[in-house]
Amino acid sequence: MDKEVETAIYEELESNTVRCGVCPRRCTIKEGQSGFCRVRQNRGGKLVSLVYGRAVSYGVDPIEKKPLFHFAPGSRAFSIATMGCNLRCDFCQNFRISQEWKDIEGEDLPPKEAIKKAKMHDCDGIAYTYTEPTVFLEYAHDTMKSSESLYNVFVSNGYITEEAVDYVVPYLDAINVDLKGDADFYRRHCNVPDPEPIFDALKILSKRNILVEVTNLLIPGENDSEAHIRERVEWIMKNLGEDTPVHFSRFKPDYRMKNKKPTPISTLEKAIKIAENCGLNYVYSGNVPGHKSESTFCPNCGELVIKRHGFTVEEFKLKESMECHNCSEKIFIEGERWIPEKLFKG
Ligand code: SF4
Repeated sequence: MDKEVETAIYEELESNTVRCGVCPRRCTIKEGQSGFCRVRQNRGGKLVSLVYGRAVSYGVDPIEKKPLFHFAPGSRAFSIATMGCNLRCDFCQNFRISQEWKDIEGEDLPPKEAIKKAKMHDCDGIAYTYTEPTVFLEYAHDTMKSSESLYNVFVSNGYITEEAVDYVVPYLDAINVDLKGDADFYRRHCNVPDPEPIFDALKILSKRNILVEVTNLLIPGENDSEAHIRERVEWIMKNLGEDTPVHFSRFKPDYRMKNKKPTPISTLEKAIKIAENCGLNYVYSGNVPGHKSESTFCPNCGELVIKRHGFTVEEFKLKESMECHNCSEKIFIEGERWIPEKLFKG
């Protein structure tokens, strides 16, 4: 198949130069050169994707692994990635396929084949994940467009333009955006000159009625101060609303941050307290299997409504109308049609 599909959102400039429009870097790319992500290249004055239909990683994951806790709980997501990323995070857990690569690798997996594989593996939907779906937007878009009864979810860094959001929004069901820190953190550790477009993208996604969950990896001494956490959760409360699920994730030393210590559990617990005190209804810990805060509790009566261990749903105590079994409070859950029937039967 043709692996060099013309990209969807770019401008043609003078002298065969182009400007990519899918992420806020808006790279100006001369003929024969590639953008910052290295997977979008100017070929004869046209901007092409070098990773269309080229999956470097795919597999079946529980939706909880994304993490998405409030969309289709208990369902199975066929997860796909290509190479490349538009950020350069020092703590990247997938740096071999996102940043530290020489040649584009992967297996031919055109959209229709990806959908076929998802169905063959009895999946309920497709997750565009592991690397950054923004850099393989056309591949994701065409897969989503043909995905029929399957859902489509993104796991993204949120560094995406409004045009690119609108390109996929008609087919997108939910997204988890990794909100990493303040402007200084983004500059020092992610090579993002200004994170404002990430906050803008979150607001746009929410306005377009896409279910948004937010993850925040807490790195000791870098983005885990009380003031920083409070600032982020207050922003979420104000701009995305009290029902936005927030995941505080435990950092494990990796890549260019091997010298750091893992996040103490007490830091995660402190962050959860701050977020709950600010008024957020659904706050979770991540990467701490067995912790109480992996589960969902009714914000009205405090009863356990979804018990999780790691990525597994162990108990599902919601009525089919997504109400608390104890007090009938409506619990914020979407994607009900993909919730496996067996969960309701206990
Ligand atoms: S997606 Fe890639 S080429 Fe396009 S603006 Fe972003 S980094 Fe540059």
